[in-house]
Amino acid sequence: MDAFVLVVGGDAFIATFLKRISDLTALQVEALSQMDEVMPMLENRLPHVVIVQARFEGSLELCCQIKQQTQVSGIYCILVEDRPQITRERTLWDRQGEMALSCEALEKGADAYLQIAPVRRKSAALALKEMQLQNRLLVAQIQAGLRKVQNYRQLMRTNDLLSTMALADPLTELNNRRALEWELPRQVQNARTRLRPLSLVILDVDFFKSINDNYGHLVGDRVLQLLSARLRYNLRFQDTLFRYGGEEFVVILSNTDVQEAPMVAHRLRRLIGDQPFSINPTTALNITISLGSSTLNDADDPKGVSLLQRADENLLQAKSDGRNRVVSE
Ligand code: GH3
Ligand code: MG
Ligand code: MG
Repeated sequence: MDAFVLVVGGDAFIATFLKRISDLTALQVEALSQMDEVMPMLENRLPHVVIVQARFEGSLELCCQIKQQTQVSGIYCILVEDRPQITRERTLWDRQGEMALSCEALEKGADAYLQIAPVRRKSAALALKEMQLQNRLLVAQIQAGLRKVQNYRQLMRTNDLLSTMALADPLTELNNRRALEWELPRQVQNARTRLRPLSLVILDVDFFKSINDNYGHLVGDRVLQLLSARLRYNLRFQDTLFRYGGEEFVVILSNTDVQEAPMVAHRLRRLIGDQPFSINPTTALNITISLGSSTLNDADDPKGVSLLQRADENLLQAKSDGRNRVVSE
């Protein structure tokens, strides 16, 4: 991974730090001297570390903004105090003043606060030693930041992967039941806030057990994969498909009212029943599905449980009425 450091500050600060970091590390360094360009840049390219001149106008607010925005909050912010008077020989007052500045920086969102200023010492040897220590401190802080950011990004990637795995069904690659339980309350709330209709379809393969019994489980699995793909590629953009259980699927129909929901369900029924599923060159299976639909009403609970239950009751009715049919509200 190419680590990338962004320096933000006045022209002199930028010139000093670009040179310092380039001389001391092999990191990619870029600079911005306009505060209002920083956040737009972060939307396109994410630096690992941002080094901000503390006395540059808006520096503390920038650290604060970075920490408040989820997408960029992983960036490590180092605030640098480069005013010579801050680092002169310390009196008690200076020390307390410095501590207060450091506290404010960290409280506002900086991850680190460094004082790296031009060195003024009577002895050249002392000045050189101090300069070397400042450089060492700067590099150590950048490295600490990089370690933290790399760990954070790795964790985020793992987190994304685990969330995807937790919400996906491995056989069909569809959203699973857990994903439905997560998504349905959101859809109910959304429909109510925006005063839009919301409907749901539950479908179940007819006599699926006989496919397993006659052709074996592997063929059964293949049928579920082909059926899922056919459903998935033929849904409208506002429909979301879930594998609810074995050979049962749920489709959330956003922005779909009580008249339209049965039409969608009938279309899905024909989509599955009208064309056989080709398992291999010698086997094509005709499959039918039964479907139940329901539409959100004011009495439904916010999680969508009652909505789902009505669709399920309609599905059971479709089964007992003879299968390969739709029962709606
Ligand atoms: P009905 O028309 O009443 O729905 O009859 P059915 O045979 O489809 O219903 P039933 O619930 O009796 O059978 C469903 C079968 O689906 C039983 C189960 O073994 C099978 N099944 C569930 N999940 C899977 C799976 O992932 N792979 C395979 N191959 N079979 C599965
Ligand atoms: Mg079935
Ligand atoms: Mg079933």
